[in-house]
Amino acid sequence: MRGDRVVVVGGSVAGCAAALAAHRGGAGEIVVLERTPGQLAERGVGLAVHNERYDELRSVGYLDSQMPWIQLTRRRWYVRDEGGAGLGRVIGEMPFPFRSYNWGPLWKELRRRIPGAVEFRTGTTVDALQHGADGVELRTTGVGGSNRTEVFDLAIGADGYRSLVRTEVCAGLAAAPRPEYAGYLAWRGAFPLSRMTAADQRLWDVEECAYIVFPGGHVIVYRIPGSTGGHRVNWVLYTAPPPDLELSLDTPTSLPPGTLTDALHSHIAAVAAQSLPGYWGRLVGLTTPDELFVQPLYDFTAPRYAIGRLLLAGDAATVARPHTGAGAVKALQDATALESALRSTSDWTGALRAYDSERTAAGRAMVRLGRRLGHALVEATPDWGSMDGPTLDAWWQRAAADGGFGGRALKP
Ligand SMILES: Cc1cc2nc3c(=O)[nH]c(=O)nc-3n(C[C@H](O)[C@H](O)[C@H](O)COP(=O)(O)OP(=O)(O)OC[C@H]3O[C@@H](n4cnc5c(N)ncnc54)[C@H](O)[C@@H]3O)c2cc1C
Repeated sequence: MRGDRVVVVGGSVAGCAAALAAHRGGAGEIVVLERTPGQLAERGVGLAVHNERYDELRSVGYLDSQMPWIQLTRRRWYVRDEGGAGLGRVIGEMPFPFRSYNWGPLWKELRRRIPGAVEFRTGTTVDALQHGADGVELRTTGVGGSNRTEVFDLAIGADGYRSLVRTEVCAGLAAAPRPEYAGYLAWRGAFPLSRMTAADQRLWDVEECAYIVFPGGHVIVYRIPGSTGGHRVNWVLYTAPPPDLELSLDTPTSLPPGTLTDALHSHIAAVAAQSLPGYWGRLVGLTTPDELFVQPLYDFTAPRYAIGRLLLAGDAATVARPHTGAGAVKALQDATALESALRSTSDWTGALRAYDSERTAAGRAMVRLGRRLGHALVEATPDWGSMDGPTLDAWWQRAAADGGFGGRALKP
């Protein structure tokens, strides 16, 4: 494989990590094709990485302590009280050993680790690909509309939940698998902590992660580092869409800031006012329209992760509900598995077979857990108000019974 040409489609978390894996695995020439022009770093909201997964990923060189982070240690569960003012009532508390990150600096650090010899071509969209036993032919459109056809020995699809590469990997399967809409949405926002009043900010001297639960959903709130210092408040609220949505969600989509309909704006405002305790409703309301976006949730995992000279990584391969707290972790683990597979054998077929069998199973387990947690936390919520610490603990143990919350351990 040494000296061979590898292309990575997509230059986000999975793409950067996969390029690093290909480099460490001995590929001769690596090209990353990313359709977004310029830097990706401005997408920045938050994500959380379990301490144990962080330790593993740091020891194999895919994360490091230079990226700004905040250590979270516990999560408190709140319900709205009679009257709805204030913080609400705490029904339980659990350990939450996660580090919170801002997506922007995390991506920048991964991007910085890619050696200069790797060509990172932004503003380039892969329009089509064809693969055979010996290689892959890609057709691309670059900056200014220029078209190109290039041939590579291996193509890695790190092109996200609407992956084009996946279509090729799954071609020929009896039932063409496609992402399945989970029936509810994630509203997300992040804004500078300094926007809150001094009194409201005080909670964050001690509070670390809050789950504010209500019938039919919940919102998770925690702080993340700002990309240029300070802290940001990061929140994700999961619940069903308004009945008058007028948007088909069967095909995977997301609604970036500025594209939300009036119905979506009114719905989140109503949920904040009627279902959340006053403090948390106010917090959600501080988010400006250009900081607010919506992601419908989907379940999908590719029945195979590799075929011929194609392979999938990150969300292109598996989209699990974010309740698992492990999507980015899994993208990084895909890369570590790819690196090990490439190092363990000198031929592409053997390496791709090893990668396929390990990661296909990991993807299936993650989707299964995401469905279970989504059922418990959104689709069939318990009577939160009647719960206390022990009943909440027992309910969580049942919901997360499969294990894997925050990501599964890397194979030794
Ligand atoms: C609400 C929510 C909360 C989450 N919270 C967490 C969390 O707390 N912890 C965690 O670990 N994970 C979390 N995740 C998951 C995590 O964000 C993703 O799993 C992770 O970022 C992996 O992304 P990716 O690189 O595979 O895909 P993406 O980030 O979608 O990147 C795909 C890239 O491919 C490019 N691309 C696509 N098509 C083409 C093409 N044809 N040609 C060229 N380029 C192309 C795109 O422009 C994009 O840059 C969360 C996800 C959601 C939705």
